[in-house]
Amino acid sequence: MPTRDEADFVRAHLPVYTPRIITPQWQSELFVRFLDGYKGLLTHYSRERPFSCQLGECPDKYHKLGTTWKAYAPVLQWRHEDQAYWHMVLEITGNLAQILAGHRLRGEVWQIRRLGKNKRKTMVTGEQLEAPEEKHLPPPFDMIPVLKSAYSQATLPTLGAENPLPPKVTLPAFLGAPPPGMPAPQKEPVMTAAEIEDMRRVRAAAKARLNGNGHV
Ligand SMILES: [Zn+2]
Repeated sequence: MPTRDEADFVRAHLPVYTPRIITPQWQSELFVRFLDGYKGLLTHYSRERPFSCQLGECPDKYHKLGTTWKAYAPVLQWRHEDQAYWHMVLEITGNLAQILAGHRLRGEVWQIRRLGKNKRKTMVTGEQLEAPEEKHLPPPFDMIPVLKSAYSQATLPTLGAENPLPPKVTLPAFLGAPPPGMPAPQKEPVMTAAEIEDMRRVRAAAKARLNGNGHV
């Protein structure tokens, strides 16, 4: 446990930074603790840069380019080099939002990864690593100035737009008899019941030795 002086010293020497939008690079991941749920935004893409849809004020040609739904959430990003969390705005794709749907998010720790065959065809996915822990969590910060700066636009009229994609459907596999004429499965059971029992005995003996008593 650091002393009060040490804690003050550490706090005074933590880096100061401007939160920005983060998203994992291809085939890499980042670790975040959500401070709040996400908010959707309708965007277009032109001349190699995204911009936010301005609804009635939007030039027609931009709408013809197509609209992409994106979402943003205030998070704490784990920075391993600093051994600290930085406030950041996580960009969330439609696919990731489908995975996050139904979660409260605040306080939850997630690993966010960008997968895919190549840099042009990628998919962002996420896995929850930790249940919510809100005890020492700072309040959410206002991410709107960060978004306005990133988009270089003074207004974001579509902020709060719903994900056009519904939450992901998951169903358990259904056991049943194979269709007629199906060959028997090639796969042998990995271990027989006797082998599993043997393994259990060896492990229990090892554990008992570690605990310092000879009984199994
Ligand atoms: Zn538009």
